[in-house]
Amino acid sequence: MPEHDTAQRKSAAAPAGCGGHGAPAQRLSEALARIRERLGPVEGHETVAVREALGRVSYDDIAAPLDVPAHANSAMDGYALAGAALPAAGERAFPVAGTAWAGRPYCGAMADDACVRIMTGAPLPPGADTVVMQEDVRREGDSAVIGAGHRPGQHVRLAGEDLRAGATALTAGSLLRPAHLGLLASLGIAELRVRRRPRVAFFSTGDELEPIGRPLGEGQIHDSNRYTLWGMLKRLGVEVLDLGTVRDVEEELQHALSTAAARADVIITSGGVSVGEADFVTLTLRRMGEVGFWTVAMKPGRPIAFGRIGKAWLFGLPGNPVSAMATFYQVVQPALLQLMGIAEPDPPLLVRAVCRSRLKKSPGRREFQRGIMTPIGEGRYEVTSTGQQGSGILRSMTEANCFIVLPEESGRVEPGDEVLVQPFSALC
Ligand code: AMP
Ligand code: MG
Repeated sequence: MPEHDTAQRKSAAAPAGCGGHGAPAQRLSEALARIRERLGPVEGHETVAVREALGRVSYDDIAAPLDVPAHANSAMDGYALAGAALPAAGERAFPVAGTAWAGRPYCGAMADDACVRIMTGAPLPPGADTVVMQEDVRREGDSAVIGAGHRPGQHVRLAGEDLRAGATALTAGSLLRPAHLGLLASLGIAELRVRRRPRVAFFSTGDELEPIGRPLGEGQIHDSNRYTLWGMLKRLGVEVLDLGTVRDVEEELQHALSTAAARADVIITSGGVSVGEADFVTLTLRRMGEVGFWTVAMKPGRPIAFGRIGKAWLFGLPGNPVSAMATFYQVVQPALLQLMGIAEPDPPLLVRAVCRSRLKKSPGRREFQRGIMTPIGEGRYEVTSTGQQGSGILRSMTEANCFIVLPEESGRVEPGDEVLVQPFSALC
């Protein structure tokens, strides 16, 4: 491909200032904003049963087909009566006309001055609009004796109080959690339309990589990124396509990229995007699509590739195992949530903690150091570093339970300083 053509394609994904190796670094927030601008939810939907919808994203607004609750019912075990009959002072005895259970309403008549024994969830009998809890009632034979101080209408859940028939129960773009399944069930909805899952193809690049199950030759290492990536993608609930390990051979890379582009919405590669890498990886990516090489001011991470090959979005992550994970969580995951069609993703959870370690940090880039946070009281935490922060030390990710997030402006951290931590439990 002629040089000018490559340059043109590059500029499409990488406007001046953030374009290639050696270009000034952009802040992570800028990189995220630029990715966010370009992505939209994947097209397509399918109809699934309520339980299958867990972790999926609703495709439509869903209106309540009925009132919830469907009828006025008691919020307490007690006695149902007409609020107007409550005594203003002293006590009054109400003959007990019968009993109403949840699922077994009292169907008889109830005189104005009578009451009905009622259980939580039982429909209010006609004529009753108030419940007096059983602890406030003295039984005397067939009567319930009730004193003053009660409010007409108390302890009653009104029909449609939670949701009126016709009102929007669930908005399109909701990530469906257990509560949503319960809400749908309470409305009698057995199935619903959810957005198609994004299909994500991934592979590792590198001559040194040997799949697990095979002995290592001279200078070789096992390919671990395909396992961390697989795990992170599975947790997100996207469709995963593992295309294996690709040698540093141009034809192999081209083949893997075309296969991935034909079959997936997103391609994630690891390795081969750092400065000084065998040129053909970056060259091949550029040739095959509109791909920019970004220097993001984050550590670990820095060089990542972002762009398009055919109709698929491409994320080229650094090969170092911790860098691949950090860039996945900080850059790729928000993009995937957007492709999943989640209208309002939860904001990243950052918690304050007292740092017990001394941390080296150069201003100018956002760092994600590995830490172990422990509670020191309710809602209060301290954090210690896992030690060496090399971006190849995958063990640090297994020992850690959080990232210590050091913003661009911050410098070195001394023991006792307050820092922000991002718990791994809040990442997928
Ligand atoms: P690269 O980004 O290709 O320059 O790789 C940077 C470092 O990460 C090198 O030490 C690679 O051997 C290592 N690396 C690259 N890909 C993987 C992988 N899939 N699994 C484990 N280590 C890797
Ligand atoms: Mg490599």
